[in-house]
Amino acid sequence: MISKSHNIPFNRPFFIGNEIKYIKNAIASGKISGDGIFSQKCHSWFEKKYGFKKAFLTPSCTDALEMCAILLNIQPEDEVIMPSFTFVSTANAFVLRGSKIVFADSENITPNIDANRLEPLISKRTKAIVVVHYAGIACDMGKINALAKKHNLFVIEDAAHALDSFYQEKPLGSLGHLAAFSFHETKNIISGEGGLLAINSERFIKRAEIIREKGTNRSAFFRGETNKYGWIDIGSSFLPSEIIAAFLFAQIEKIEKIQKKRRKIWEMYYHNLQPLRESGKLILPTIPKYATQNGHIFYIICNNLKEREALIKSLKSQHIMAAFHYQSLHKSKFYREKHDGRKLVNADKYSDCLLRLPLFYELSFRETEKVIKVIEDFYHN
Ligand SMILES: *Cc1c(COP(=O)(O)O)cnc(C)c1O
Repeated sequence: MISKSHNIPFNRPFFIGNEIKYIKNAIASGKISGDGIFSQKCHSWFEKKYGFKKAFLTPSCTDALEMCAILLNIQPEDEVIMPSFTFVSTANAFVLRGSKIVFADSENITPNIDANRLEPLISKRTKAIVVVHYAGIACDMGKINALAKKHNLFVIEDAAHALDSFYQEKPLGSLGHLAAFSFHETKNIISGEGGLLAINSERFIKRAEIIREKGTNRSAFFRGETNKYGWIDIGSSFLPSEIIAAFLFAQIEKIEKIQKKRRKIWEMYYHNLQPLRESGKLILPTIPKYATQNGHIFYIICNNLKEREALIKSLKSQHIMAAFHYQSLHKSKFYREKHDGRKLVNADKYSDCLLRLPLFYELSFRETEKVIKVIEDFYHN
């Protein structure tokens, strides 16, 4: 039996402070359904901290993305452009509305959508561009927003990785018309499952509130703005319970502490693996001048799939769990027949060669050093 202390998992959920206390408070308040005191506290916190015009907690980032597709009135004749190297929810949210997905390739230097090769993908039917700030490193939003403006398109940020990261000092999630965040246990700030819709364009706020409450004006009713409520639009149940909001609020209160630790681990990997990069053994992340890292994911790029498999095995033999990431969606079983056949070589490269190293709040610096040592030994042998 290997003792627990020798295992380095890829991720481990954590308590940071007042989670249990706040859950108890929520129950004592007599209301644990959605939009109680803790949800309101979270909404205000996000609006104030990152300057979103409106923030709505959702049960997941997937739900926030589905709300985006409804808010944009996506129809079957519409096309939506997004990277192929992303999580399935980015695409599914729009496929559920019947729209066609036009998958774009990643940049050579980052897994983000390549802004320089987007314009030829835009057609009369294009309605929106969805960007994913991979590993919390910003996409080239200046170029993307300019292109969207020129062609009258909406911009959605899948900011699942991107909490507390920046594009030219502007918080990610504040740059598109709408943005979706995740508090899944693998993200920086967690509530088990959880998400947030950030609205930066005033015109969506009222309808978002209705869609989130099953297509009813229930929220306006609770504010006393109407004497009864009813069904006025399509919608679903897109609000989390107060138990989740209470847990989340305890985490966001401590965001500086969490981020400081995660950024430090990221930097340790980055600095200590430089010699391997300099000798051409592997590739490390590139942070463009306009971007920051937020300690979400630390990845390396191996030379090929076989090498990545061997490295995963080598780490595993030392009880260290490393994880590859997305498999190109344009090649997925569900979408490959629907894809237009363009080759997306960078997306495929990241599918085959990218490897994520353990990175979580409770990972110790000694454990981080151990991971680095095993990688060094692997490339030196
Ligand atoms: C995690 C993730 C999601 C989904 O988040 P959930 O909260 O689990 O729904 C969506 N997009 C990206 C890029 C993600 O990493």
